Amino acid sequence: MTESTEPQGVERYLGKKYPRTWDEVPIAGIVPWPGNTEELPKHSWRTIRPVIDQEKCIRCRMCWVYCPDSAIVEVDKEYTNKKGRTFKVSYEVNYDHCKGCGICAFECPVNAIQMVPEER
Ligand code: SF4
Ligand code: SF4
Repeated sequence: MTESTEPQGVERYLGKKYPRTWDEVPIAGIVPWPGNTEELPKHSWRTIRPVIDQEKCIRCRMCWVYCPDSAIVEVDKEYTNKKGRTFKVSYEVNYDHCKGCGICAFECPVNAIQMVPEER
């Protein structure tokens, strides 16, 4: 009996061909060059997202330092808080690259980052 070459099950559903033998499996688990994950958008699998409260933020940069995906960006956006203190820069989230891990919220010393449910 000849094996059918028609896509079956999940392959038919997704319209993709999956590897049948070990030598068809693509190489994975390697970092071909530093920072390569920045080229891959991660927003599609995020379930929660960080929201920065600019009023609470003291511009310490800890979120920028700890984010594993370089998704916190420093922008030249001046901000004066209600106490009259002016900051020359602001920190924002690049949601194309944020995976929603929550590390930034955990590391923020003043709880200026809240993780909120992702809405589609
Ligand atoms: S939730 Fe994770 S990936 Fe997103 S900005 Fe914070 S540390 Fe970076
Ligand atoms: S860690 Fe918190 S206080 Fe520091 S820059 Fe980020 S949001 Fe602002």
